[in-house]
Amino acid sequence: MTGLRAGAMNWGGNVAFAARRVLRPRSVEELCGMVAGADRIRALGTGHSFSRVADTTGDLVSLADLPPRVEIGTDTVTVSAGTRFGEVTGPLQAAGRALHNLGSLPHISVAGACATGTHGSGDGNPCLAAAVTAVELVTGTGELVTVRRGDPDFPGSVVALGRLGIVTALTLRTQPTYDVQQVVYEDLAPDAIEDLDGVFGAAYSVSLFTRYTGPGMGMAWVKRRVDPGVPWLPPQTWLGGTRAPEQRHPVPGERGDECTPQDGLPGPWQTRLPHFRLEFTPSKGEEIQSEFFVAREHGVAAVRAVQAIGARIAPQLLVGEIRTVAADDLWTSLAYGRDSVALHFTWVRNQPAVEEAVGHVEAALRPFEPRPHWGKVFTMPADEVRTRWDRLGDLRRLAERHDPAGVFANDFTDRYL
Ligand SMILES: Cc1cc2nc3c(=O)[nH]c(=O)nc-3n(C[C@H](O)[C@H](O)[C@H](O)COP(=O)(O)OP(=O)(O)OC[C@H]3O[C@@H](n4cnc5c(N)ncnc54)[C@H](O)[C@@H]3O)c2cc1C
Repeated sequence: MTGLRAGAMNWGGNVAFAARRVLRPRSVEELCGMVAGADRIRALGTGHSFSRVADTTGDLVSLADLPPRVEIGTDTVTVSAGTRFGEVTGPLQAAGRALHNLGSLPHISVAGACATGTHGSGDGNPCLAAAVTAVELVTGTGELVTVRRGDPDFPGSVVALGRLGIVTALTLRTQPTYDVQQVVYEDLAPDAIEDLDGVFGAAYSVSLFTRYTGPGMGMAWVKRRVDPGVPWLPPQTWLGGTRAPEQRHPVPGERGDECTPQDGLPGPWQTRLPHFRLEFTPSKGEEIQSEFFVAREHGVAAVRAVQAIGARIAPQLLVGEIRTVAADDLWTSLAYGRDSVALHFTWVRNQPAVEEAVGHVEAALRPFEPRPHWGKVFTMPADEVRTRWDRLGDLRRLAERHDPAGVFANDFTDRYL
């Protein structure tokens, strides 16, 4: 079905897929049969990736019709792979449980998000996949296997870019529910970024937004986890900026009411940690995204390096976001082995012009050995990408074992793994 856009899932999708068709199995048994008879096949989540990571020349499989599973245990939840975060957070909250973090949008599937290393912000918060304790997947021979934390292959089996098989269910670690207060400060002082530890250590999750057009930072979105014994009255000024008088959107000119409440009042974790509300199109809709992870110690210098080329990327840049992500042990995670600062870019939807701008960003960040987000647009050569992770060869060997005929491979995984 050449030209298929993943907008089937309410998202305008940047990628025109090369896949023949989209299969929608109704049971795991049916899925096993589809895989066993396939020459090339690949799972599709909600299609929110901007890179060609999900594409295939064979069949795409949507798991949206598999029997839904949201099984809440004492300190875990097991969900069917196609479940969107926005569908699991409510039942968890009702059961008095929570996840450690969420990405900027609740619209994405749990399996799709984990497969690319999707993350939110927070010095103490690793990527969403770091909460996974077990993965159930159909391997290339059509066999259903479960890999659990503690198994030697586990660290390679979570952020696996869909290369090891089609994940049917994931188990994630949960914690007691908590409330979060969110406030936004704008017109921050030019030197706000210099105290990286002070800025990002000030709350559970902090995002800075900037257009890189000058030395200054635009906004700080502060998500503070409520400590029941210590009430927090958000100050009116912070980092040289003032509290926004009304709801803000990250992208200038977009509607603030599409974002989660920024009124400073405590609310359940899932109503404050994402930037975007489930009932609206997240972000701008018509856009392209890129993101690069650098080791935390290079964070300030990396931001300054992008500011130095700000004028060159300004025509394509809608907004940039700076977040922190804690290190994890998942081989292909963007924060594998290093506490990280993530520099995100929301671009206009103009692929050639954006690729040129991305090239400028990559050149500016090269001294800091940036890792590109697997689900977003990057242009750096494959051999450069391969130097950024030291376990890609192990993932390749794991893929050869799970998928000897290479049915889950695509151009993207062939190139970068
Ligand atoms: C508006 C917007 C905001 C975003 N914000 C963030 C953010 O805050 N943080 C961040 O890190 N990213 C963000 N992203 C990127 C997004 O989170 C990732 O691209 C994510 O992977 C998308 O999940 P998906 O369900 O759409 O997966 P898809 O894009 O459909 O697929 C992604 C990968 O997962 C694989 N996959 C999907 N399902 C399965 C399965 N069942 N088994 C095996 N493999 C599977 C696919 O084959 C593919 O390789 C954002 C994207 C958009 C559009």
